[in-house]
Amino acid sequence: MQVTSTGSLSRRRPTRQIRVGDVAVGGGAPVSVQSMTTTKTADAEATLSQIYALAAAGADLVRCTCNEEAAAEGLARIVPRSPVPIIADIHFHYEMALAALEAGVQGLRLNPGNLRKVHEIRLVAGEAKDRGVPIRIGVNAGSLHPDLYKRFGGATPEALVESARMELAIFADVGFDDVKISVKASSVPLMIDAYRLASETFDHPLHLGVTEAGPPPAGLLKGTAGIGTLLAEGIGDTIRYSLTADPVEEARAGRQLLEVLGLRERKGLDLIACPSCGRAEIDVIAVARAAQEALGERNLPIQVAVMGCVVNGPGEAREADLGIAAGRKRGHLFIKGKIVRVVPEDEMVEALVAEAEKLVAEGVEARLAAADSGAEAEAEADRLALVEAKGPDANASEARVALIRKRYTGEDPPA
Ligand code: SF4
Repeated sequence: MQVTSTGSLSRRRPTRQIRVGDVAVGGGAPVSVQSMTTTKTADAEATLSQIYALAAAGADLVRCTCNEEAAAEGLARIVPRSPVPIIADIHFHYEMALAALEAGVQGLRLNPGNLRKVHEIRLVAGEAKDRGVPIRIGVNAGSLHPDLYKRFGGATPEALVESARMELAIFADVGFDDVKISVKASSVPLMIDAYRLASETFDHPLHLGVTEAGPPPAGLLKGTAGIGTLLAEGIGDTIRYSLTADPVEEARAGRQLLEVLGLRERKGLDLIACPSCGRAEIDVIAVARAAQEALGERNLPIQVAVMGCVVNGPGEAREADLGIAAGRKRGHLFIKGKIVRVVPEDEMVEALVAEAEKLVAEGVEARLAAADSGAEAEAEADRLALVEAKGPDANASEARVALIRKRYTGEDPPA
């Protein structure tokens, strides 16, 4: 069930397309989500179970470190059983890149800051070319080549982009150009500027990320600020949140960001809830949490609204696939803003879950057709009674404005 409008954000800056296994990156392909395992790659069973969890949470591609021979051997066991393509993360040791290729990985990530010998880079690129395996040039502000650091007076956007350009030139020596590029930094403004420059400089797909963003919630905010800004500008073909947390959170965040930007079809639940105010007839936070838990477990691909009052709730959330609003000890269940049922307040969450399941199974039209006949009239009676009881301004905003005006002007409000 598709509920998201892609809007203008779906216009991407054109890039060439590469393929990481069966996942297309760039060239108009859907923006993909990546994450990285935290297990020892040598432990194939533990790593595979994490890869399955990451794929279930929304990862299209998973990266594993390949830092020792045992890790490469682990990759040989992991790759054939993985539900998603595997990318080997390589630092310092070109032999590990060759071993990972031998293990059958679908992608490599090389860090030009610490894998510096030209003949070794050529060897890896030549081998990747023969096997049809793409490489990400993974530039990182924290591990920039010291020469570039000196030349540019620090890890500037120009220095990061130059590092990628130099690596591309080495790859070109062996006729290899099956490449995506990242220019990550832990500073969000630096990362944004670096990717903007990279986007003007290269037509290769870009892998976005704010590196070492730290634990949530700050890490999530940094990732979202950096990645979201660039995606909104049409920049970026694949993304990774770098969180100091269970990597499942990274995959989930990546997927959710793409869904909220309308860049990927909704796969899971999107629960929206009003912030609550003086009109609220229920504890919105508690009901929203209970609904999130109950519906989250079922992972239904719809947008569900929990609204604190029936006076404004159904109207404000009319775009939601399904919602519930509270009033006079009852819950008004609505589909696309249309009331379909009125239930007792203590059955609100239960009724919401039951309707959500039916909605996904049967579709909007069928569920609107199955609406209780008197629901609209009952709901309207509740709404009018509440307006009557609390007045149209339950938050007393206008009365407060009048008091402020009186304080400054001395004038009494008009009767
Ligand atoms: S007016 Fe109603 S729906 Fe809007 S914030 Fe207040 S309680 Fe929630």
